[in-house]
Amino acid sequence: MVHFVGAGPGAPDLITLRGAKLLAEADQVIYAGSLVNPALLENCRADCRILDSARMTLEEVVEAVRSAEAEGHTTVRLHTGDPSLYGAVREQMDRLDALGIPYDVTPGVSSFCAAAASLCAEYTLPGVSQTLILTRMAGRTPVPEPERAASLAAHGCSMVFFLSAGMLPELRRELLRGAYTDETPAALVYKASWEDEKLLKCTLGTLEACAREHAITKTALVLVGDFLAHGGERSRLYDPAFTTGYRKGIDT
Ligand code: SAH
Repeated sequence: MVHFVGAGPGAPDLITLRGAKLLAEADQVIYAGSLVNPALLENCRADCRILDSARMTLEEVVEAVRSAEAEGHTTVRLHTGDPSLYGAVREQMDRLDALGIPYDVTPGVSSFCAAAASLCAEYTLPGVSQTLILTRMAGRTPVPEPERAASLAAHGCSMVFFLSAGMLPELRRELLRGAYTDETPAALVYKASWEDEKLLKCTLGTLEACAREHAITKTALVLVGDFLAHGGERSRLYDPAFTTGYRKGIDT
């Protein structure tokens, strides 16, 4: 059996209870060494076989799983944040399906959640934006043409860019073709929830200079949108005059 587990954004206590239990019981752990905090491996069994997938191909990962299965051993495949976002998990599942190896998935706290937490920000502010776009710039790996940043930026909503901290001039150019300006609030969040986390608030116009000043080129998210500046309107949900399924509104 293979358990795909979301490791969370970095801080070792931001893995789920279920994920931590699976990790502590595993015969083999294959972790994404480029981004998963190795401190998470401290609770593995002393005889646990630990492999770093940063140095492995998909074929090697599948082979490690297959040979563990042959011995009746369980594998935890530990992915950073939540496995469903840029985790390259589907291709692993397809191969496990072909081999008849069962698997399940334990979600994790994605880095975009940890970034908002560190900034004490809310992506969906009433009257400001009710939509969050999670995306990336096209780099060595392409993005489908209709999802180009410039097209998505037409909405002017809250946006988070993964895997794009090394392409900030291009990112700015794309966003300026949409609804954003150089004054649009932005933030660069480096290693959210890690001990060496950096939170840099800036604007779209100053984003690149800010990254250069702090030598940030990777392991960072770019957040863009007016949610970073506004208090927004008060929510209806907690408005005394608003009736909900749990509470009758009163005239004010
Ligand atoms: N599945 C992961 C994303 C993997 S893609 C998740 O849910 O977070 C790798 C990219 O995620 C990095 O290039 C960076 O943009 C972002 N990332 C992952 N962990 C991060 C962290 N702790 N702080 C900031 N960005 C992070």
